[in-house]
Amino acid sequence: MNKKPECTKCTKVVCPGEHFDQGPSNCPTKTRRDAIQRALAEYDKPEVKEFARQASIQEFECYMNLPEGKTPRNPRVEEVAQFAKKMGYKKLGIAFCNSLGNETKLLTTILENRGFDVVSVRCKVGGIPKETIGLREEQKIKGPGDWETMCNPITQAEILNDERTEFNIVVGLCVGHDSLFFKYAHAPTTVLIAKDRVFGHNPAMGLYLSHSYYRKLLRKESLDA
Ligand code: SF4
Repeated sequence: MNKKPECTKCTKVVCPGEHFDQGPSNCPTKTRRDAIQRALAEYDKPEVKEFARQASIQEFECYMNLPEGKTPRNPRVEEVAQFAKKMGYKKLGIAFCNSLGNETKLLTTILENRGFDVVSVRCKVGGIPKETIGLREEQKIKGPGDWETMCNPITQAEILNDERTEFNIVVGLCVGHDSLFFKYAHAPTTVLIAKDRVFGHNPAMGLYLSHSYYRKLLRKESLDA
């Protein structure tokens, strides 16, 4: 295997331009031709090509040319609705977190106002206790002895699959629960809200503050610790 790609440490970043072949020695644009060819074969599938094409048109349309320069114009909620419409989707699924019920109601109204048929499934669907997946009493958020329903992203996915939603939207599912939803959902899925309990669902804030108030994020520790 070639040297591992480390695009985050690249000092050249030539891939966005026409000199894309002049990257460093571990540049995957140079060393991973097989993967690039496999990906291109996927884009050749008509449904994949159309999805990718519409996504890039969506990206293009998110800017407007003003006298002062290129300016972004679409909040993500707008983008999700616009992209779904471009793709001709009629039936949308929402997999949402119990603690984001109000936000999901607003999202549902926004999408229904635009003519979409919206199916939504809460993370606690099924009412399955956390003991089912091996959680101990002291690992319950409300405390030992209390009933606590587990987050159930696989059921969220199964129900949306049964409903044959054409496009799914994740609203605030937890880290890992979202991964299971992605793994089991049949329809393509986008994320409207990535949960961040500290930064108001703006995970980037942790990165922005990692050189000031959240310096502790940069601490070194061992995987074995
Ligand atoms: S693809 Fe190559 S040029 Fe682009 S960031 Fe990665 S290493 Fe750098």
